[in-house]
Amino acid sequence: MELLERPRTVREFQKMFQHIYHKTNKQHYTDSDLIRVLMEEISLVMESARKDRRKELLRQLARTFSWFNAVASRFDCDLQEILWYKYPAVCPYCLLEKDCICGTEHPKIPNKEEALRRLRRDRRGHEPEILHDHQLLHAKLYGWQNDRILLIQTAAHLAEEAGEMSKEFRHKNIDQAKHELADIASWIFALATRLEINLEDAVWAIFPYECEICKEESCRCEVVP
Ligand SMILES: [Zn+2]
Ligand SMILES: [Zn+2]
Repeated sequence: MELLERPRTVREFQKMFQHIYHKTNKQHYTDSDLIRVLMEEISLVMESARKDRRKELLRQLARTFSWFNAVASRFDCDLQEILWYKYPAVCPYCLLEKDCICGTEHPKIPNKEEALRRLRRDRRGHEPEILHDHQLLHAKLYGWQNDRILLIQTAAHLAEEAGEMSKEFRHKNIDQAKHELADIASWIFALATRLEINLEDAVWAIFPYECEICKEESCRCEVVP
């Protein structure tokens, strides 16, 4: 069945998670519940990173990606679109195409918003679509910097962005929340790169077009853990 083939693109992964979980999520979770669960999953990423349990971290990262997709879909965010909008093959703060130099402060660049708009427009049709290509793009932008920080610090960045996302949703700043979702994805990619794994493989190992728990193609879990 064509529908159940292994996804490759960001959109195919998002579609797969909707296929598996749309029904149960709708039944069991309000908007804020869904965001809370994503926060809980990210806390578990922090725990595995702190304890340096890499195998567990890998699985937890895949689960986090699943809930991240659930939140994006609930708020009608096309992850492919928001990723490219925020990261049009450059770091949105220093505008470099490789090895971002942003430290704790972002460099001041005149007319940055205009430059970003131009990049988004000029590179239309050349954006990465394959999930792994997005991971590679973020490794190209930030791998050099992220190699110099601890694993737990990388996880902490993810938690930080998740907090910002939650706050923006709570204040109903949906556009801003979408920016934060792109940043969450960037740190999920950073963790995958740090663990030297392909996020696609990690996700597919746990969600091969079926629920991790009930193993159904369209989840039937009654009691949601
Ligand atoms: Zn930068
Ligand atoms: Zn299930």
